[in-house]
Amino acid sequence: VPVPNIRNFSIIAHIDHGKSTLADKLLETTGTVQKREMKDQFLDNMDLERERGITIKLQAARMRYVCDGEPYCLNLIDTPGHVDFSYEVSRSLAACEGALLVVDASQGVEAQTLANVYLALENNLEIITVLNKIDLPGAEPDRVLQEIEEVIGLDCSNAILCSAKEGIGITDILNAVVKRIPPPTDTSQKPLRALIFDSYYDPYRGVIVYFRVIDGTVKKGDRIYFMASKKDYFVDEIGVLSPNQLEVDELYAGEVGYISASIRSVADARVGDTITHFSRKAESSLPGYEEATPMVFCGLFPVDADQFPELREALEKLQLNDAALKFEPETSSAMGFGFRCGFLGLLHMEIVQERLEREYNLSLITTAPSVVYRVNCTSGETFLLFVNNAHSQVLHSANPMISSNFSKVECSNPSALPEPGLRRSIEEPLVKIEMLTPKDYIGSLMELAQDRRGEFKEMKYIAENRASLTYKLPLAEMVGDFFDQLKSRSKGYASMEYTFVGYEESDLIKLDVHINGEPVEPLATIVHKDKAYPIGRALTQKLKELIPRQMFKVPIQACIGSKVIASEALSAIRKDVLAKCYGGDITRKKKLLKKQAEGKKRMKAIGKVDVPQEAFMAVLKLE
Ligand code: GDP
Ligand code: MG
Repeated sequence: VPVPNIRNFSIIAHIDHGKSTLADKLLETTGTVQKREMKDQFLDNMDLERERGITIKLQAARMRYVCDGEPYCLNLIDTPGHVDFSYEVSRSLAACEGALLVVDASQGVEAQTLANVYLALENNLEIITVLNKIDLPGAEPDRVLQEIEEVIGLDCSNAILCSAKEGIGITDILNAVVKRIPPPTDTSQKPLRALIFDSYYDPYRGVIVYFRVIDGTVKKGDRIYFMASKKDYFVDEIGVLSPNQLEVDELYAGEVGYISASIRSVADARVGDTITHFSRKAESSLPGYEEATPMVFCGLFPVDADQFPELREALEKLQLNDAALKFEPETSSAMGFGFRCGFLGLLHMEIVQERLEREYNLSLITTAPSVVYRVNCTSGETFLLFVNNAHSQVLHSANPMISSNFSKVECSNPSALPEPGLRRSIEEPLVKIEMLTPKDYIGSLMELAQDRRGEFKEMKYIAENRASLTYKLPLAEMVGDFFDQLKSRSKGYASMEYTFVGYEESDLIKLDVHINGEPVEPLATIVHKDKAYPIGRALTQKLKELIPRQMFKVPIQACIGSKVIASEALSAIRKDVLAKCYGGDITRKKKLLKKQAEGKKRMKAIGKVDVPQEAFMAVLKLE
């Protein structure tokens, strides 16, 4: 295909606004995927994605489309829709010249709409506004268009009204992609530079890399060089995504495709890296490569200690696919052998946990997520402290791949938090966050940030009705429900971004939880001194709700050292799950019982008390 007939575009949308449905419709309308091969939502490959209705990993598809008698090649590059993966979104947008902005006509502009639009604007993309779900009786296209113009400042005079579900407006969208999105520039003569926007591990062929050729050309047999990982490989196979892989001889500047080169781990070919030729290297890599930095950590322990080797194997396999996943073996007095794992964010953590349980049939205990603290001791030593496993130890591993996962560990021997007399200070990681919000919610979001120990930095108006708020804030205050709070306080209109700024000293203490008189190590947290009492109260109340009643009375206490600062008690009645089920709907009763049975599998016995998985997450989801 000649370069002037290529169009590379993405679809950006807030979750549930219809991105996947529209993508499917585009594939179907262009005959890329025959109707009978259509599984619902072709682009969402992973079962988990389909189930949760979210796109986690990017996928791409090439479509042929004839417009005014002229054949075009349209490359659709899908993007994940969650803030944990914003780096991946930004790389896939960097591989495009345009984007379809899909907004639900019955909802309007929401948080991710904005976050993604700003990423698209930063990448100088031509944006085509698509109002989806106009078939819904509650659709208000005029109001929503006005909102887009006001909030985002996009000209909506040529917005397209669409129903992805009913197939309305689909050809208008395809025509607009051809007419309004510029073709790539033809830079085939330059040294090769190709941007990786996705990669995954195939057990038979090694890593498959999805990329956009920005400059130059690449063909089978070429010796290629990854500029960030500094690895080189010979290309075994090269092709396009239609959307199934289809081998071709060569790909030119502007084209999108895949390469297979017997690459052993996705860490060698990470999203954002630049591919060039080994013998004719580009002078500089494409901008914007970022190392994956785990921001949230938790301990993963098999319920059944015998499953430890399986857990290790499963983590190693997942890591081949997911270079952002980090892990290191650890032991804990309460939990036995397990792994301390690092993730991009909470969603990333939940996904990994679920995949381990589902795809690898493991039954796991996950400790509450936390950040890494630095403890400076009077002896001059510095400990890194992973709070929720305060009594655990990282095992030194002979496997360099595993040890290098935590290259930032200055002292890889964290142990119990030293007694107050032995420590000089505790430092915690801080982030700079920027929140974008309609002006109505400024007050509420400032309150949120201040409540989370945020230090106000700056406020500026970016449009008549939109403000940007910048705060410096402890990361620990963000790994919990900050994002949910931001969304609910702003009715979904605010969006946020954050970057790590470094460690700072803070007045932190350890808060223990005792259940039935026994300390429950995974529930211990580090909190700011000023917050210990309210957190202690909220935590004990929450645990009282989450822990099922036992045959005996169970005290639940929050303690600082030996001092009890909050306490609740579970009375001794067995909880009847059917109590709330009036009437005789037997299927509903069965469902509830089944749910309870499933819930039981995820219980961890603490002494004589069964504590459900949710309790370990509850530490972070306090109001
Ligand atoms: P995504 O999260 O942006 O990928 O959204 P999906 O494509 O998964 O769609 C979310 C939900 O909206 C699904 O239940 C779709 O069936 C529904 N949906 C998508 N497009 C339309 C539409 O045009 N009209 C109606 N009524 N529902 C739609
Ligand atoms: Mg989707």
